[in-house]
Amino acid sequence: MDLELNETQKLVQNAARDFATRVVGPQAAEIDATERFPRDILRGLAELGLTAVNVPPELGGAGAGVISFALAMQEVARACASTAVMMSVANMVGETIAKFGTEAQRRLYCPKLASGEYPMGSFALSEPDAGSDPGGMRTTARRDGESWVIDGAKQWITGGTYAGIFIVWARTLPPETSAKGISCFLVEGGTPGLKVGRREDKLGIRGSDTVPLEFDGCRVPADALFGQENGGFKIAMMALDGGRIGISSQALGIARAALAESIAYSKERRAFDVPIAQHQAIQFKLADMQTQIDAAHLLSMRAAWLKENHMAFSREASIAKLFASEAAVRVCNDAVQIHGGYGYTREFAAERHLRDARVTTIYEGTSEIQRMVIARTVLG
Ligand SMILES: Cc1cc2nc3c(=O)[nH]c(=O)nc-3n(C[C@H](O)[C@H](O)[C@H](O)COP(=O)(O)OP(=O)(O)OC[C@H]3O[C@@H](n4cnc5c(N)ncnc54)[C@H](O)[C@@H]3O)c2cc1C
Repeated sequence: MDLELNETQKLVQNAARDFATRVVGPQAAEIDATERFPRDILRGLAELGLTAVNVPPELGGAGAGVISFALAMQEVARACASTAVMMSVANMVGETIAKFGTEAQRRLYCPKLASGEYPMGSFALSEPDAGSDPGGMRTTARRDGESWVIDGAKQWITGGTYAGIFIVWARTLPPETSAKGISCFLVEGGTPGLKVGRREDKLGIRGSDTVPLEFDGCRVPADALFGQENGGFKIAMMALDGGRIGISSQALGIARAALAESIAYSKERRAFDVPIAQHQAIQFKLADMQTQIDAAHLLSMRAAWLKENHMAFSREASIAKLFASEAAVRVCNDAVQIHGGYGYTREFAAERHLRDARVTTIYEGTSEIQRMVIARTVLG
């Protein structure tokens, strides 16, 4: 693995860092407090190529690769975790369509996602009664002449209120076929029969839109089928492998913000006549935070490097996601502790970072699911 960034990767990292520092960061506290969907920021990210970093240029993407995507995610998440999760999902949707779509699907949807014409693209896999075990999904799609008709419900769909396109998984064979009877469809936002529900009131990433979807006789054309009939589950698993690199990068960005603010605070805040940074207990916390962040960084970069070089990366993406998300929670918890009573207030960002970090151990596969994936490969 080459740890030296190439020119493209440096360029993407710098562009993301500059935009995150100048534009995103100053709005983050307000986005969280008002639960505002950061539409303008997403448009700005699209203009920089950051909503389709690993989508080929001929489809409107930046074509800058997986490592560039991971670096950009880290920078945006450092500034605003709400924005970062939507950036991650938009990238995942664009990349998945670019990889598995027909020529017509790729040409129709990828440029709209990349350019920001679609404020969001959504990934609709989870259901009210099937999250960790998507093979247990109940949403169905049945063929009716030249159409497919989708019925059922999806839950926790990031960006669903604003999505121009949804990748939707539905059962096309009876439930006993489990994961083998699931197909995938591209459903445009605003299609009759697709109802977007009320936004969830969440602990963190409050600027990110998370909604349930209802499909009530939602009719889509035959060519909305995405990938092979009954081959949808594989697409979900492959997309999630890549998505986990996005979430480990998000966790890393949040943790970096928490550490930077803890360092600054500990140099300013005095107790027992000295800055608290001079107390060894604080120094050891800062050392542990930095160590965990470095480890998370290396694990994330390894997964990104493997994917970029077309090697197997599923296990490494799970390891990176598991470690980075749990490290982020520990780091942000320590940041609150270092800030003392002020850390428990909205006056400082430490509490927001802890709330934002918490979800990274849950979505795109919980920590328990990552451990199951990793254990399977360990045991062979
Ligand atoms: C803010 C947010 C945004 C999201 N965005 C999206 C999105 O855009 N698209 C989408 O499709 N989904 C999305 N999700 C859904 C997310 O991926 C699921 O919440 C997650 O996969 C867990 O599923 P669940 O909530 O149904 O929990 P459950 O599957 O009910 O799990 C409950 C608990 O049981 C544990 N568990 C389950 N099975 C096992 C097992 N075999 N062994 C050990 N422990 C187990 C889990 O780890 C968890 O701790 C989002 C979720 C959130 C909170």
